[in-house]
Amino acid sequence: MNELANFGLTSSMVDNRESKYKVLLVEDDFAHETLILRSFETHKQYQLTSRHTLADARKALVHYLPDLIITDFRLPDGDGINLIEQFLQNKTCPIIVMTSFGDESIAVKAMKAGASDYIVKSDQSLIELPVVANRVLREWRLILDNKIALEQQSRLTAILEATPDLISIADVDGFLTYLNKAGRRMLGMTMDEDINKIRLVDFHAEEDALLIMSEGIPYAIEHGMWKSNSTFISKAKEEILTSLVLITHKSEQGNIDFFSTVAKDIRSLRSAEETIKHLAYYDTLTGLPNRNELLKQLEYEIDRVRRNNSHSALLYIDLDNFKYINDSLGHPTGDLVLKEIAQRLQAEIRGEDILARLGGDEFVVILTELSNDSLEALSQARKVTKKLNEYIARDIFVENMTFNLTASIGISMFSAGADNGHELLRFADTAMYEAKKAGKNQFEVFHKDMSIQIHRQLALEHKLRKAYSNNEFVLFFQPKNDAMTGQIYGGEVLLRWNDPENGIMAPGHFLDILESSGLIMDVGHWVLKESLKQLASWMAMGIWKPHQRLSINISTRQFQDEHFSHSVIRLIEEAGVPAQCVDIEITEYSLINDLKKSVAKMEELIRQGVSFSLDDFGTGYSSLSYLKNLPVSTVKIDRSFIQDITIDKSDEALVTSIITISKNLGLTVVAEGIETKDQLQILKRFQCDYVQGYYFSKPVPAIEFESLLQQ
Ligand code: C2E
Ligand code: CA
Ligand code: CA
Repeated sequence: MNELANFGLTSSMVDNRESKYKVLLVEDDFAHETLILRSFETHKQYQLTSRHTLADARKALVHYLPDLIITDFRLPDGDGINLIEQFLQNKTCPIIVMTSFGDESIAVKAMKAGASDYIVKSDQSLIELPVVANRVLREWRLILDNKIALEQQSRLTAILEATPDLISIADVDGFLTYLNKAGRRMLGMTMDEDINKIRLVDFHAEEDALLIMSEGIPYAIEHGMWKSNSTFISKAKEEILTSLVLITHKSEQGNIDFFSTVAKDIRSLRSAEETIKHLAYYDTLTGLPNRNELLKQLEYEIDRVRRNNSHSALLYIDLDNFKYINDSLGHPTGDLVLKEIAQRLQAEIRGEDILARLGGDEFVVILTELSNDSLEALSQARKVTKKLNEYIARDIFVENMTFNLTASIGISMFSAGADNGHELLRFADTAMYEAKKAGKNQFEVFHKDMSIQIHRQLALEHKLRKAYSNNEFVLFFQPKNDAMTGQIYGGEVLLRWNDPENGIMAPGHFLDILESSGLIMDVGHWVLKESLKQLASWMAMGIWKPHQRLSINISTRQFQDEHFSHSVIRLIEEAGVPAQCVDIEITEYSLINDLKKSVAKMEELIRQGVSFSLDDFGTGYSSLSYLKNLPVSTVKIDRSFIQDITIDKSDEALVTSIITISKNLGLTVVAEGIETKDQLQILKRFQCDYVQGYYFSKPVPAIEFESLLQQ
């Protein structure tokens, strides 16, 4: 019952019914009616309702739905055939027509019209009417069941045809007897293509076909069902990975009737699975193995090296100043640069080497299968590293801009004694850190002393904290001279640490640590305060003229502090010096992080009279075009360009163009690091405004600087 209801079909005529069959009897002849009613009395499954005219019958049928109609053909108000027509159109219930003797031709007409049966009225036939009714109802039920079955089948077929998975039926020999629409589409067959000579295995990839024949079918025959992932190859040679179920259908006797197959295209599922796997082990930006994957491969490689007694090297690559590209030009541009670097590295290493991205601007290369001789292997590793450094340093063109990046690389040989991948990475990282300290664009090979070095760093940080509280920092001063006249135009304050152990130390030894530890905030504040105090005292002494400017170096962290401008203004007020005598030396790196904010901060100070010099100009990320947007009054050409200006034509060209453009923008130009007369001559020729360097004076303590001022 439920099953039928599921398919939207209802029938009151199903087996084992408990309710009675309702029969409408339409008979105007009283004697016949009585006889019929009596003949049905012993058949308790029937419940009869009598009507005597066509009109009454019709009226009854408005609300009354019989399971069977038994009607006389001739009624006082018309033909019983009218009832048939009305009823059989809707195929609601069977009708038995009764005719009088001699009316057989009419009976045939009634049957043609759709009556289920007829009887020719006689006493005998009327008594046997229940038997006829039984047969008619049984047949009707068969028809109805068949109809339900047909409808059910067409619905099932519709489902099979609509489902996105391949569904097929095959005979015992594997030849298809049915293949649904999705199956045809999957395999590249047209809807009218004959499938009878086709076996599904013909469409499987060779290996899979073998597996199905040797394992799948026998297993399905024994256990009823076999499941596996299996690849089809369509007519268009497309590979379709499916999750496949093969089912054996057996008769009650246990013989195989047919096979059916359901195959679901899981390519997208698989690619999602793979994507997730990929995400866990590969870097999305570059597609390179990430740290997880690297560590996996590293363990494997360490093992291999141990087994074969061979040599491999791990290179820890960290881009210098990459952060500034990211900060100033945004991550999308930074990403493009990283991709470019990844491609360069990949192109330079051999197939058997491994390149990974640890994150940020850090890459790792594993050089495998180096020479069996340890010294030779080391020299190979150095050679490759040097080459990588060179490739990284080549111009990078991204979004119509040209960048110059360098990298610091740490090398650790596998033979350095690391126990595992983590340790090996740490070794190389330590060496990289050393390379960075040695200046950018360098590489270092790890050796055991380096870990000692790291400990020294920590000890140094500790010492610097003490130095600050013990007041061991001092200020040195270096004059800036007018290039033409040689007169002192101002000076730069340079920090020194009077280390009780080692004497006077330049910032190169400790500035990194001041910055990384955050100590620079305190020390920087102290420098500002102390410099301004010194300036006030020189002004009071009358040896510092109001047109002269004292330049103070400010580190990025200091400048980026929210209260920077205010604290400078306050310190100037406290010292009681004119702001016009104060110049702040700052690098582009400090500004580009948030250019708008930086400019606002600078302008706050500029309104007071403070001026700004752009320090180390020409190194790293230098853009002449944005110079005009910065409220700086001076550009300081970096020492590295002055160094070789007499011998290196490209340095000379660069310095000229910096001077020319700066002057066009109304900026003053200072060159730092002048050590020789020749350098000075060239700068004079280029009309550089001011010069600073050992040629005039080394940085000196305040007392000595006083005498320079007095000259
Ligand atoms: P800088 O701002 O580029 O300073 C110029 C550096 O060049 C100074 O090194 C100076 O001694 C050196 N120098 C000047 N003339 C010559 C020359 O003719 N030849 C050579 N070879 N070197 C010359 P110094 O004093 O060791 O300072 C190094 C860096 O430390 C400075 O570079 C500056 O960035 C930073 N620094 C110094 N004092 C401070 C400070 O008070 N605060 C901050 N935040 N940084 C400071
Ligand atoms: Ca400086
Ligand atoms: Ca400088």
